[in-house]
Amino acid sequence: MSVSSATPRTGKTASNSIRLLILASTLIVAAILSIVTYLLIREHAAAEQAATRAASNIVQLIDADVLRNVELYDLSLKGLISAAQRSDLRGISAPIRHLTLFDRATAAPYKGDILLLDKHGDVLADSASVVPRTGNFADRQYFQSHVDNPDPGMMISPPFRARTAEQDWRISFSRRLSGENGEFIGVAEAAMRLSYFNQLFKSLDIGRKGTINLISRDGILLAQQPPLADDLIGKDFSQRPNFMRILREGNGSFSSISSVDQTQRLYTFSQVGDLPLIVIVALSTDEVFSAWQRTALLISGATGVLCIALLWLTWLLCRELRRRQSAEQKLARLAAIDALTGLANRRTLDQTLNSEWARARRSFQPLSLLMIDIDHFKAFNDRFGHPLGDQALRVVAQNIGACTGRPTDLAARYGGEEFAVILPGTDTAGASVLAEKIRARIEDLPAVSEQASPLTVSIGINTWSGNPDISLDEWISNADKALYQAKYSGRNRVVSNMSQSAAKRSA
Ligand code: GH3
Ligand code: MG
Ligand code: MG
Repeated sequence: MSVSSATPRTGKTASNSIRLLILASTLIVAAILSIVTYLLIREHAAAEQAATRAASNIVQLIDADVLRNVELYDLSLKGLISAAQRSDLRGISAPIRHLTLFDRATAAPYKGDILLLDKHGDVLADSASVVPRTGNFADRQYFQSHVDNPDPGMMISPPFRARTAEQDWRISFSRRLSGENGEFIGVAEAAMRLSYFNQLFKSLDIGRKGTINLISRDGILLAQQPPLADDLIGKDFSQRPNFMRILREGNGSFSSISSVDQTQRLYTFSQVGDLPLIVIVALSTDEVFSAWQRTALLISGATGVLCIALLWLTWLLCRELRRRQSAEQKLARLAAIDALTGLANRRTLDQTLNSEWARARRSFQPLSLLMIDIDHFKAFNDRFGHPLGDQALRVVAQNIGACTGRPTDLAARYGGEEFAVILPGTDTAGASVLAEKIRARIEDLPAVSEQASPLTVSIGINTWSGNPDISLDEWISNADKALYQAKYSGRNRVVSNMSQSAAKRSA
């Protein structure tokens, strides 16, 4: 039995404490990281929600503005039609007729012109001038629709390019003029310049990198503010993945990369009333999440420092615990061995005797004890001096220790020049063999120095073989008795208490 094994409990407790400490701090770090991650994700979602709500408000504002305009156009068209149908209109002067016809027409500069066309598509009256422009619009799709349909109400055309020099994008609103018998007699048409939206969009704050877009349902970009690139107006976006998704979803928002400038944007979109138009507010995600990013950076940095500090403190504490553990183990080892001989000391011997005695009684396994005493050692000391005596003690102890082979065997210094060997699970025969081996080995040892004489030992054996009536003290004392028996019988011999038979060396 190794002496260090006498102190496993201290080591185990310290190792458990270290393991517990590492586990606790890992759990704390994991909890901190989870909480911070959860809060950051929630903040990110809140920032996205706020941006979507703001963009959605802008979309609704544009929607409401467009619908109000459509209403105004319709009022103008209705006014134009009712005025055009008055029979007393022919007699009055051209400026007064112009005033009467376009009485309810809107005069905003971006809202295009209102025309009255006859049944052939020629311009009869023009809101832009008293003398109407010359032109024929019979080929326009809306004109043809009114010819074929007696009561289509107000028609909204798809976006088209004007035939003016500017060739700007417009959308037209038109109503049919019917005669007394319902026959087709002409069309009242109002064109809305889509550049009007640029003005409207400019007044809205969507950040530095965001854009507001007006796009027709067939994918033609009609207005964009601020423009992402030159010459984008009139371009076909119908095959771009973002537009296809917008068309599919109708209303809503999503985040994606712009195919124009490869910037990540948050798109919020809606169809404008019943018009074939879609408004898209595209906010730069960099701007949307810039405040969140700053907060996230700050919180992540602080959390990282906190976690590293915590782990560092844990490491320091573990190192300190380990140091203390090894110091305690060293001390415990020192407390368990005999300083002079290096064998187990009396304290360890007593502890082991108690535990092995209890174990033997539980398991009914034999337990043997050897008591060893150096012969005439007082004389040796007196003759050669204590330093040589100490050296001789060390050599004898070393050789006793070398003879015990099993891990459960324990060789200890009992006191003075006396030693004890505990042999668990060993009967008298086995103990006698080992005792004889020790005796013979010491006898064969050369003298520790040229001046000194060789030494011999006497050994007493006692074996417990299941007798329930004997106590530990009696059992030890019987081993002692066997030793004294060996001394009385002439020394340098082994005596077993059970047999009381002396086994003297043959020589
Ligand atoms: P016996 O054969 O009957 O055992 O004779 P002995 O002289 O060995 O008997 P005793 O037990 O009376 O003597 C023990 C001696 O061992 C006394 C002392 O001089 C010596 N001794 C005890 N402890 C130590 C020690 O630590 N160092 C040294 N050098 N000698 C010791
Ligand atoms: Mg003695
Ligand atoms: Mg002695």
